[in-house]
Amino acid sequence: MTHPSIPAPVAVGALLAEAVRRLPGEEARVEAERLLAHALGVSQTWLYVHRDDALEADRVAAFTALLQRRLAGEPVAYLLGHRGFWRLDLQVTPATLIPRPETELLVELALARLPDDQPLSVADLGTGSGAIALALALERPRMRVLATDASSAALAVARGNARAHGLGNVEFREGDWLVPLAGEHFALIASNPPYIADDDAHLETGDLRHEPRSALASGADGLDAIRTIVRDAPAHLQPGGWLLLEHGWEQGAAVRGLLAAAGFEAIETVRDLEQRDRVSLG
Ligand code: GLN
Repeated sequence: MTHPSIPAPVAVGALLAEAVRRLPGEEARVEAERLLAHALGVSQTWLYVHRDDALEADRVAAFTALLQRRLAGEPVAYLLGHRGFWRLDLQVTPATLIPRPETELLVELALARLPDDQPLSVADLGTGSGAIALALALERPRMRVLATDASSAALAVARGNARAHGLGNVEFREGDWLVPLAGEHFALIASNPPYIADDDAHLETGDLRHEPRSALASGADGLDAIRTIVRDAPAHLQPGGWLLLEHGWEQGAAVRGLLAAAGFEAIETVRDLEQRDRVSLG
């Protein structure tokens, strides 16, 4: 008989089933598999092949610790330390926003406006993990991408991501929005700035609760950062240049209004896959 203080070996399959039972939501299975693969340092495929393998107590303990943190609300991307965006796997830390699939729409809209055979300059303001800047740099190797962020901790992550993917055509500068780009002119300026209202109760829920407040919230109506960017962008755009801004689904009309007041033309708002206003440009 097994001594009670020495837990019986736990099989991979049994451990997964238990985690899936405890995790809430539709993503329970995929989250459990990702966390267990991470704790064991193996691929998710390995888990299927080794379903009946018994795990060492220290491996079980490592997984249980991750599972507890997930159950307490920490985002999966922070627990794993990385997140997929576009065709890139990006390191993310609590110093950076977790890149969202919606932001890939902004990348697509930018690429549609950037011919692939010209050595243009583009900017990404508030780059965070570097998601937008690195996706553009990857798809347009001849282009020069300048990325700014006010957070030196975020820039350290973004620089590491550029190195990890061998993207030498991105340059990072510390500072607010366009401030570090004095004298520079661009064919396109893109940003996924903070756009949630300071008092929005969503900031206390889900993943948002763990992400940098400065990457999410921006003033009483959430539009402070966008107002600053729209105000300053014209001086940094080449003739015919584009400004692309991600924003909240209820902010389309307000952002189009700001763009019009700043003298932008060809203004439009594009909807995301859920048919909600997501990116405005001019
Ligand atoms: N540009 C980064 C992203 O899209 C960070 C955006 C932010 O922190 N608001 O993921």
